[in-house]
Amino acid sequence: MKKLDSRIPEGPIAEKWTNYKAHQRLVNPKNKLKLDVIVVGTGLAGASAASSLAEMGFNVLNFCIQDSPRRAHSIAAQGGINAAKNYQNDGDSVYRLFYDTVKGGDYRAREANVYRLAEVSNNIIDQCVAQGVPFAREYGGMLANRSFGGAQVSRTFYAKGQTGQQLLLGAYSSLSKEVQKGKVKLYTRYEMEDVVIVDGHARGIIAKNLVTGKLERFTANAVVLATGGYGNTYFLSTNAMGCNCTAAIQAYRKGALMANPSYVQIHPTCIPVHGNNQSKLTLMSESLRNDGRIWVPKKQEDAKALQAGTKQGWEIREEDRDYYLERRYPAFGNLVPRDVASRAAKERCDKGYGVNNTGLAVFLDFSESIQRLGIDEIRQRYGNLFDMYEEITDVNPGEFVQSVNGIDYYKPMMIFPAIHYTMGGIWVDYELQTTIPGLFAIGECNFSDHGANRLGASALMQGLADGYFVLPYTIQNYLSDQAVWPKVSTDLPEFAEAEKSVDAEIDRLMGIQGKRSVDSIHKELGHIMWEHVGMGRTKEGLEEGLKLLKALRKEFNENLFVPGKKDELNTELDKAIHLRDFITMGELVATDALHREESCGGHFREEHQTEEGEAKRDDENFFYVGCWEYQGTDEKAPVLHKEPLEYEAIKVQTRNYKN
Ligand SMILES: Cc1cc2nc3c(=O)[nH]c(=O)nc-3n(C[C@H](O)[C@H](O)[C@H](O)COP(=O)(O)OP(=O)(O)OC[C@H]3O[C@@H](n4cnc5c(N)ncnc54)[C@H](O)[C@@H]3O)c2cc1C
Repeated sequence: MKKLDSRIPEGPIAEKWTNYKAHQRLVNPKNKLKLDVIVVGTGLAGASAASSLAEMGFNVLNFCIQDSPRRAHSIAAQGGINAAKNYQNDGDSVYRLFYDTVKGGDYRAREANVYRLAEVSNNIIDQCVAQGVPFAREYGGMLANRSFGGAQVSRTFYAKGQTGQQLLLGAYSSLSKEVQKGKVKLYTRYEMEDVVIVDGHARGIIAKNLVTGKLERFTANAVVLATGGYGNTYFLSTNAMGCNCTAAIQAYRKGALMANPSYVQIHPTCIPVHGNNQSKLTLMSESLRNDGRIWVPKKQEDAKALQAGTKQGWEIREEDRDYYLERRYPAFGNLVPRDVASRAAKERCDKGYGVNNTGLAVFLDFSESIQRLGIDEIRQRYGNLFDMYEEITDVNPGEFVQSVNGIDYYKPMMIFPAIHYTMGGIWVDYELQTTIPGLFAIGECNFSDHGANRLGASALMQGLADGYFVLPYTIQNYLSDQAVWPKVSTDLPEFAEAEKSVDAEIDRLMGIQGKRSVDSIHKELGHIMWEHVGMGRTKEGLEEGLKLLKALRKEFNENLFVPGKKDELNTELDKAIHLRDFITMGELVATDALHREESCGGHFREEHQTEEGEAKRDDENFFYVGCWEYQGTDEKAPVLHKEPLEYEAIKVQTRNYKN
């Protein structure tokens, strides 16, 4: 079995990162000018890494599939970004953020990485403020905070419901400065199709110009993947339509390990699915759980009337409402972590208490907070989210309906869990390096920091920590001796070989000329994943899912239809490439979920639950990161390697959000 070296530095947890930085190898300023780094991705992780590396002196080639770095999926992030500033004086600290993150991830994260993340969280806020990111402020000018799930303190910094957009504009302005200086060369509408390995090291990529269809070769001293998560494997998700896992899967096919793929996050507050022709789901930010209360009716007959449309939510009186999160988890109430809130919603709906026509929705209600704070204050906090909800559903969640016995009733939102984020991803060590030397992975596309469940507002924190504050140090440890090597030419046979195989694969997809559109197969993939590899997983269901996925791969290979030509703008071809890799990813998710005979965080095996329906871990047998190695073909099952988890600073225990 492969020995995975996580390269965690020596010393007590609070000193590891400081020790690392004191002893890592550096690249001298003159040598930096000779070194090129490819950064694939311009989201928060990619843009922060590219601009930081360029500012340090490296030459950066930065790629994205959109027409502008500003259109990376990070722009969609709504609710906020965590940091342990303790501005509220409510007991926060680096240790508490670290502890909450490990606990939130159900004790399946690498402890040393999480501590470092909490440690650098405060620097991120300073950096972003310096860039001019307009975080919300208190009356006195201090940055404001709100609460997110899994924490009893307020540590989430935000810019209305547009935090990702504002952070990305900050990162983009830094990136633009480097582009202007000539230190970053930007390649928009380019898609990485393969990583090129020379003498065992990542030395470049093959990228497709998405406008002309032409394949091009790029060489560098190191390659950084910042290509986001694989949520769109499920077809319907809150992710942007363009999100894909092609770069990650191609790295996996070239020898990088895929870690914990079964850890997929299902977000509790999304607008419910409303029809068969939908291709996208919309998130209602978790920040809404600060002031919104989640409930279903206490009585079955009320639920039935809601499902039949003969009754509306506001007609159900306070005493007939079951605020089930507050009832089950009094200590955290509506702010339990996402996995817990999602399962609790499913439990109520499975028992027949769902509130819309499909029976698959619960209410998120602002009546109490509007009565307490006034609609103006609530709109100040969540106005754009209310508008978004109204635009999609034609219901204004702030609209007053009636007052009964001194209680004001407003129209509630309807929400239901949906695929949102992926904790699994490319395995990286403490330096964020994959098992391929010279290939690094940052942001959502790596697996590192969130264990089996990510806490809200921690993805932006991780992406920016990786890009601004971690990679710029750790990559130097690798690059320090690279300046003495001659630059690798793109004429090497390894580049020619990689380009040839990407080209042949495109020809194969174009040549199938079957009867099914990419979307129809992708939709089927989504159904299989949601049904068999979704919120509640069983051995039987996963085995069946794997069989169906195999059959779907065959269908894809034999019956796919891609119109047009390869040497032109062809979005159907691009989607076909993504779908090929989503199917491989789907099989990885199911394989990992089948092997992990326990429940933890977002991975819920129905066979492994407590009497109260909570996730039941098996620390004796599964206290490790599950890493999968490609076996040369998609037809062969991947091989498992294990990185044992070692906890020094935190006592591993059962998660408790009740008291
Ligand atoms: C609706 C929504 C709201 C969210 N809100 C929050 C929040 O409030 N707080 C929080 O912490 N997190 C939030 N998240 C999660 C968070 O937004 C993401 O995890 C994070 O933005 C991912 O950043 P990233 O840089 O890793 O990837 P992305 O932003 O997805 O960027 C990926 C980049 O890679 C490029 N790319 C991809 N494949 C290729 C390829 N093959 N070749 C070239 N380029 C490629 C893309 O063009 C893009 O530039 C939210 C997520 C969603 C879906």
